[in-house]
Amino acid sequence: MIEWKDKRDFWIIGAKVVDPEAGKVRAGSILIQKGLVTDIVWQKSVETDLPVLDASGYYLSPGFIDIHTHLREPGYEEKETVETGTAAAAAGGFTSVVSMANTDPVADEPSVIEFILSRAEAAGKCRVYPVAAVTKGLKGEQLNEYYFLKKAGAVALSDDGNYILNSQVMRNAFEYAGYHDLTIISHCEDPFLTEYSLMNESFSSTRLGMRGAPAASEEIAIARDIALAQLTGSRLHIAHVSTQGGVELIKAAKKKGIPVTAEVTPHHLTLDETMLDSYDSNLKVNPPLRSKKDISALRQALKDGIIDCIATDHAPHNEIDKQVEFDRAPSGMIGFETAFAQLNTELVASGVIELVNLVRFMTVEPARILGLPGGKLEKEAPADLVLFDPFEEWTLKKRMIRSKSKNTPLIGKSFTGKVAGTFLGGRWIPND
Ligand SMILES: [Zn+2]
Repeated sequence: MIEWKDKRDFWIIGAKVVDPEAGKVRAGSILIQKGLVTDIVWQKSVETDLPVLDASGYYLSPGFIDIHTHLREPGYEEKETVETGTAAAAAGGFTSVVSMANTDPVADEPSVIEFILSRAEAAGKCRVYPVAAVTKGLKGEQLNEYYFLKKAGAVALSDDGNYILNSQVMRNAFEYAGYHDLTIISHCEDPFLTEYSLMNESFSSTRLGMRGAPAASEEIAIARDIALAQLTGSRLHIAHVSTQGGVELIKAAKKKGIPVTAEVTPHHLTLDETMLDSYDSNLKVNPPLRSKKDISALRQALKDGIIDCIATDHAPHNEIDKQVEFDRAPSGMIGFETAFAQLNTELVASGVIELVNLVRFMTVEPARILGLPGGKLEKEAPADLVLFDPFEEWTLKKRMIRSKSKNTPLIGKSFTGKVAGTFLGGRWIPND
């Protein structure tokens, strides 16, 4: 437990400092003044008259950045609000999150972007960077006014949840997004192939008697968007890649120099389709949990740099929505509060990737993809940091969850690695 009362100027000493850019973890001390990092020295302690926070036993890294989240406000405040969502994000070690546009009203007007930003400012738990919709009302027909949306604070464009079916509309979107230096984040799924689907199409879906979504639904959608990114030269970011075939398409596109990046979620890296034997509706996600073979391909793609970063796709749904027959339950699971612990347990503690790389996939890389501030250890930058203990064992209990929704299949699971809290502009936000 860290006991700390906020100070204007102070040193954090004793921690192992993770520098994801340099790929190093070493003893270090960090000076914070007026909310900014003003000095970093590579020694365990310093001689100083300033107040000192002794973080011995903890690791200190740039705050995590999540570029795919659903905060649900405005419109679905019964599931999550900007306040509860950012509190959950901070508890999970995030200091910046990117919020998707599928709110009600949809974030297709500057006023909605401004509203989300003002809510985040008032909550003060985590920075929020809103995404604006590519098309009016997420309908895939009419483009929005990107200039005004960007001016209001939108950092990217996405109709996440929907795939834009009309290729001419998508081509135009890429052209205009390019003029405005905005990346399009695409939810790649052919909706005709996934209609009425409940899980991955496979032996498991046949055995369970559930209609499946074939991997081809993702591959077809990725292939078209890569072709359009190549045609227009505009940046494409592929959300929640879930298939081996998708990885192969991205690999080939990157080899050709097409401006494409990709993310993968903690659940697609760790949970597989056979778990649906339980018919737990909290395992129903979009795209669906895939096969063990897909999971291996996704892990390898991260290691090889084909998939650039990790993003949670934190998707809150309240209990009343999820406690219905499997086919009637909405898709999505929450992810902020378990992302680091789950990945540290499944990927780092088991030796699949190194801790410094897990941190890199959650800091430098997501920041680079959307050109966001933060993600690195930098002098004169806001002191957005996370303190964690990668060896602490803990078990997730429902009452610990800060998100307004509790839709996670991980309740009762034990993890190795716990976030102690974050500093947001030098202000301590404990996870206790
Ligand atoms: Zn999506």
